[in-house]
Amino acid sequence: MIHVSGLRKVYGTGVVALDGVDLDVREGEIFGVLGQSGAGKSTLLRCVNLLERPTSGTVTVAGQELTSLDLAGLRRARQGIGMIHQHFALLSSRTVAGNVAFPLEVAGVPRRERGARVGELLELVGLQGKASAYPAQLSGGQKQRVGIARALAARPKVLLSDEATSALDPGTTQSILALLKRLNEELGLTILLITHEMHVIKSVCDSAAIMRDGRVEESGTVAELIARPGSLLTREIFPLPEPAPPGSVTVTFAGQSGEPVVSSLVRKFDVDVDILGGSLEELAGVPVGRLRVRLEGRNSAEALAYLRERGLILEEAR
Ligand code: ADP
Ligand code: MG
Repeated sequence: MIHVSGLRKVYGTGVVALDGVDLDVREGEIFGVLGQSGAGKSTLLRCVNLLERPTSGTVTVAGQELTSLDLAGLRRARQGIGMIHQHFALLSSRTVAGNVAFPLEVAGVPRRERGARVGELLELVGLQGKASAYPAQLSGGQKQRVGIARALAARPKVLLSDEATSALDPGTTQSILALLKRLNEELGLTILLITHEMHVIKSVCDSAAIMRDGRVEESGTVAELIARPGSLLTREIFPLPEPAPPGSVTVTFAGQSGEPVVSSLVRKFDVDVDILGGSLEELAGVPVGRLRVRLEGRNSAEALAYLRERGLILEEAR
């Protein structure tokens, strides 16, 4: 749905914000880009709808190469791409309804049609009854709901989100993430979101990329990344002290549930299992995590081979 290839952005100041970024976002998925401040995330997002003109590289959204369009073509294509922001970017002198109607006015939608569409949108985001409130009278979560309703006014297929939950408290963040997930499912909306918060990736994303210094360091579905030995995402989700102590083995479990692995090791191989640390969670209902152990005994090598056979991912520190 979104295909970014060889994207570079060098600002006039000489800052290389994007240094050859490739990204593939599939239709109907929620794709999260994780990275620290200054990694180039916002620049990437602004290049996806060409608010920022990339220095080189191509951006294709819904089969249309945006980087080759003229201004009129681009304006039309942008109707299919909504965007929400960390600080909501609402017009303070307009009511909730006025804010949501704004893009419809710009697109020349007749008044009556606008009114009906605004009503639908407010209901979609759970803000019925707030139509005539002003932004200053709303909580942060309600403001972001207005931002989402406005972004969806023109029925886009793609929604871009730049740290949309970063200004919100944890409870409100979860409710906005739940709303994005529902819109993704009900409308088939493809969502590209950027965040510096791991838990956002963990709670709603199907796929993820990790950015650093203008480059994508790894990307793929969350399941693929967790199953990839040494993946940065796995280390971020399941932090353990690094570097691992020599002689230890870090075992990543990705869904091999219900197996009493540790007790089988002890029984079958007569080894001692010293547990050094662990971090476990449920992702999409599946227990996933990392366990760091040290095995002592003559049959340690066989025991490790047994774990590998069971599909566990092993990282041995020497
Ligand atoms: P992130 O969103 O990951 O924090 P940004 O894309 O905002 O990262 O910034 C990436 C780099 O580009 C930073 O070094 C930043 O200072 C620089 N940068 C961002 N926007 C501009 C701009 N308009 N002009 C010059 N440099 C910029
Ligand atoms: Mg940013």
